[in-house]
Amino acid sequence: DAGANAGKVFNIATDTTFAPFEFQNDKGEYVGIDIEILAAIAEDQGFEYKLNPLGFSAAVAALESNQTDGVIAGMSITEERQQKYDFSEAYYDSGVVMAIKADNDTIKSYGDLKGQQVAVKTGTEGATFAESIKDQYGFTVVYFDESPLMYETVKTGNAVACFEDYPVMGYGITQGNGLKMVTDMEKGSSYGFAVLKGKNTDLLDMFNAGLKNIRENGTYQAILDKYIAAE
Ligand code: GLN
Repeated sequence: DAGANAGKVFNIATDTTFAPFEFQNDKGEYVGIDIEILAAIAEDQGFEYKLNPLGFSAAVAALESNQTDGVIAGMSITEERQQKYDFSEAYYDSGVVMAIKADNDTIKSYGDLKGQQVAVKTGTEGATFAESIKDQYGFTVVYFDESPLMYETVKTGNAVACFEDYPVMGYGITQGNGLKMVTDMEKGSSYGFAVLKGKNTDLLDMFNAGLKNIRENGTYQAILDKYIAAE
């Protein structure tokens, strides 16, 4: 109900660089699937917002401390997070995958990570997955706040592999990020828009109602088609 929110500008936090979900175009404007879905939903539901690209773990921390009204950041709906946050309906299916430097022919499976350093992004599902298998496979984990820094450390050889969301790594590879995937995707969670548990229920309701509408009127699919080549 937009009427109850007249004059209100919601603060929505997002990641800095997580293409194709959020990234800056050559004019420095934020674009991507999350950015356009949010814009379409806000227009459909008649609410105003300010986008705040804080980085993933900072966005989640801002939500946890009630410094932002919501987060849209390719944020996976996990059981653990559902203790603290309320999520919208899922809007994109994802999973976690390992990536290595494109010219690396020695790493073929997790077993080849023994004694090596692996890069992850702080607070992500990829980090949680790497942490869950690091003792079994005998590798150490080094943390980064932004996806591009994680990829860069793999390219320079300071880490032998990284763990990233499959749709993001797949997109990055097609954009020439210099990495490749050699293992199957691990099953992961779907993405949702998050608010602090019990807070901003009107915003969450509007997000869900708008998501339903943009799915029905074709806008949602048009946004996906714009960023992801039709299969
Ligand atoms: N989907 C992952 C998570 O929620 C990563 C999100 C991100 O890096 N923006 O943990």
